[in-house]
Amino acid sequence: MENIKILDKAFKPYISAAKIQTKISVIASKLNKQLDGKDPLFMGILNGSFMFASDLYKQITVPSQITFLKLASYQGTGSTGKVKRLIGINEDIKNKTVVIIEDIVDTGVTLDSIIKQLRGYEPKEIIVVTLMFKPKAYTKEFKVDYFAFDIPNDFIVGYGLDYDGYGRNLADIYVINE
Ligand code: 5GP
Ligand code: MG
Repeated sequence: MENIKILDKAFKPYISAAKIQTKISVIASKLNKQLDGKDPLFMGILNGSFMFASDLYKQITVPSQITFLKLASYQGTGSTGKVKRLIGINEDIKNKTVVIIEDIVDTGVTLDSIIKQLRGYEPKEIIVVTLMFKPKAYTKEFKVDYFAFDIPNDFIVGYGLDYDGYGRNLADIYVINE
């Protein structure tokens, strides 16, 4: 792994693809135990979680389903541009065990909004799995059940995570080099 440049910013190697896969195996085996017999519905949050969701889900062995949701800015009047509506949900989650798959939980504002919207559909329980977690930035109460890596408040890219839309294709994770 070597230093890279994306658009105007420099990044240095941070977490290798091999390390990511090792952590995913650990999380998957815990989930397989916890979810046994629960017929869970996995929910990947687009775009950032697509690689993580794919690699994690390949290691899930319990009968289950997966779907993908996206956050879209509210249209029309009253929009602050900050509140985001979760699109792609339907009634099928009523009384289900739902496993949210996120790329990164930073302040937790996004996750909090996702959970509040999901609760309206009355799932039986909500489990949160994220690839990256920034505990020092986290301001919310909801428990992050599983994370592959906890990191300081530095900006990272790769393995689904982007800088201005670029860098999602990187197999390894990089951190900004300032
Ligand atoms: P939160 O709402 O938890 O503050 O932020 C979550 C969102 O911010 C993530 O879904 C992601 O889009 C973005 N984000 C936060 N930290 C990073 C980071 O280090 N790298 C990238 N690429 N996105 C981040
Ligand atoms: Mg995200």
